[in-house]
Amino acid sequence: MSVLFGIDIGGTSVKTAFVSSEGEILHRAEMPTRPETGLDDFFARLRALFQQEARSAGIRIQDVTGVGVGVPGFLDDACAVVVEAVNLAWRDVPLRDRLEACLELPAAIENDANLAALGESWVGGGKGRQHLLCVTVGTGIGAGLVLNGIIYRGMNGMAGEIGHLVVQRQGGIRCNCGQTGCLETVASATAIIRQAKERMPERAANIVGASDVFSLAEQGSAEAQAVVAEAADWLGYGLALTATALNPDCIVVGGGVSKARELFLQPVRQAFIRYSLERIHEAPLVPAELGNDAGVVGAARLAQQRLNRG
Ligand SMILES: [Zn+2]
Repeated sequence: MSVLFGIDIGGTSVKTAFVSSEGEILHRAEMPTRPETGLDDFFARLRALFQQEARSAGIRIQDVTGVGVGVPGFLDDACAVVVEAVNLAWRDVPLRDRLEACLELPAAIENDANLAALGESWVGGGKGRQHLLCVTVGTGIGAGLVLNGIIYRGMNGMAGEIGHLVVQRQGGIRCNCGQTGCLETVASATAIIRQAKERMPERAANIVGASDVFSLAEQGSAEAQAVVAEAADWLGYGLALTATALNPDCIVVGGGVSKARELFLQPVRQAFIRYSLERIHEAPLVPAELGNDAGVVGAARLAQQRLNRG
């Protein structure tokens, strides 16, 4: 029996899971990240968690063959060092070597958005697909690419940053990246909330999340419906541009906004079809299926792929 250990490091918590070689989660465990206590403390706690949780799940340590880790930040070209992870206050952390020493296992590390895509392509919404575009629509918009079954990073890990496609060349609003008119300024949850407050000032105090706007749309508010339709049209446009360049065989949509399911995905699909060639939009556009597990499952898959490659 071969078991993989998947780790998904976030700003507040570290999610981990023992995952079978078929992608099934055998056991989950979490610990607080506490970046302020330093790296030595972090790895000591991680080692303790790994050993305790293996024991409580009845998994023999010697059956665990590799560890994969997702990090919210930029890695060096060799995927060995975390160059910068702002939420963790990490800079130039040799994560792969430290993990291998800490857990005594071969380790593989990647950006968390890329691992979510790999997880969805393994056992999630894009199961069995070879060329997956996996987009996450939440506060911002990000995407991971799995091409020919493996993560595509591009020159320096920026592949899939489709939230910063400049779709409004003039008159757009300012994005966090410094540009104006980026896709995420018109199609993210943040954009949906902003637009809804502008169009419905009398309801602004009650609009906290994008889900509030979707609820209003479902209740028949024409303004809320217009906001959803516009954001969906922009997203479908951005996906059409991206898919035309890459010709994926599946597009998976995840993140907070995808919880609205068909209320949002249906108009996104219509726009994707409107703005792309027929043979491009043969690719189905489907919801993500793994939710919060995508990171740990993708991390386990990455570990497995590295082991298979030797
Ligand atoms: Zn931007």
